[in-house]
Amino acid sequence: MLIVMKPDALASDVDKVLQVIEALGFRGHTLPGENRTAIGVTGNKGSVDPAHFENLPGVADAIRVTKPYKLISKELRPEKSVITVGNATIGGSELAIIAGPCALENHDQVFAAAEAVAESGARFFRGGAFKPRTSPYAFQGLGIDGLKMLADVRDQYGLNIVTEAMDEHGVDAVAEYGDCIQIGARNMQNFSLLRYAGLTKKPVLLKRGLSATLDELLLAAEYIMAEGNYDVILCERGIRTFADHARNTIDLSIVPAVHRLTHLPIIVDPSHGTGHNYMVTPLARAGVAVGADGLIIEVHPKPEQALCDGAQALTPAQYADLVSQVRAIYDLVAEPAHAFVESN
Ligand code: PEP
Ligand code: MN
Repeated sequence: MLIVMKPDALASDVDKVLQVIEALGFRGHTLPGENRTAIGVTGNKGSVDPAHFENLPGVADAIRVTKPYKLISKELRPEKSVITVGNATIGGSELAIIAGPCALENHDQVFAAAEAVAESGARFFRGGAFKPRTSPYAFQGLGIDGLKMLADVRDQYGLNIVTEAMDEHGVDAVAEYGDCIQIGARNMQNFSLLRYAGLTKKPVLLKRGLSATLDELLLAAEYIMAEGNYDVILCERGIRTFADHARNTIDLSIVPAVHRLTHLPIIVDPSHGTGHNYMVTPLARAGVAVGADGLIIEVHPKPEQALCDGAQALTPAQYADLVSQVRAIYDLVAEPAHAFVESN
C-alpha cells in the first residue's frame, strides 16, 4: 500500500496517516518529494484495504502496490533520490567518483592513494579494512587499524570514506569511522546484515551479488529501507557468466533498468567488473555514458605490489586520465539542467 498525500497536506495530516498505519500493526515510511509526500506501508502480510486511508484529511490516493518492492519504487518517490554521504552527495548533479585501493595495506600506500584521489577532485575515498577473500589464507585486511587510517585520510584531505562491512561488528565499526557502509557482492543476500545496516544512520552502498538478478538487487535494497534507512546507493560490479576474458561480465543494461524502476542512484564499478587494468577506463567511460551516477575505481600507488586486486588497479597517472575522460562524458550525457549549470 502506498498513500499519496495532496501537495498541500499538512504535517498533522501525515502524522494522522502514520497513526492509522501503526494502529493496524504496520509500519509507515514517509518519503517527502518535490511536489508531494508519499507514505509506504510495510509489515502487512496481505493486501491492505484502501478504505482505511481514502477519507483521511490530506490524502490524495491510497494505491495497492503490485510489485514485490515498495520503498525503492518510483511510485513512492517519482524524483531521483540524492544521497548525502559525509559532506558530498551521490545521485545529484555531480558525478560521484569513489576511488582508492582495494585493500588498505599500510600508511604510505593509503596516503599515496589518497593524495591521488584528492588531487583528482573526487569527493570519496575507498579502501577495504575488512576484506572478503576467496582464500582464508589471503590477506584479510587491517581491521580497525585500517579504519583509523581512513579517518585520518578524511581529516587530512576532506574525502568522504566508503568502506566495506562484512558482519554486524563491521557495520558498527564502519559507522563509527566511515561515512558510508559498503555491503559487498558476497553479502548482497545476507539478509540479517542488510537489516542491521538498515538500522544505522549511515548511507549504504549495496553491491550487486555475483549472480543476482535485478529484482534480487532491488529487494536487497528494500531490506535496508524497510528498517528505516532510505539512503541506499546501488552498484553494478559485474556478474558471473560463461565469458572468461574478463573477471566478471559488467552488465551495463542494469543502469537504465534501475533508473526506470527506482529513485535510488546507481554507480558502476569497472574495476571488479572487468578485473583488468586495460579494461577499466573504457568500461568507466561506458558506465558514465549509460547514465551511472558515479564510479568505483581502484587505484594503487604501486599496483604490481598490491596485496589484493593488483591486476585491476590503476596507477595514479592512469586514474587521473580516467577522471578527466569520464567528466567530459558526464557533461555530455547528464540531464540538460545539470549540463547548463556545469557549463556556466
Ligand atoms: C571491493 O570493493 O573491494 C570488493 C570486494 O567488491 P565486491 O564485493 O564487488 O567483490
Ligand atoms: Mn577489490
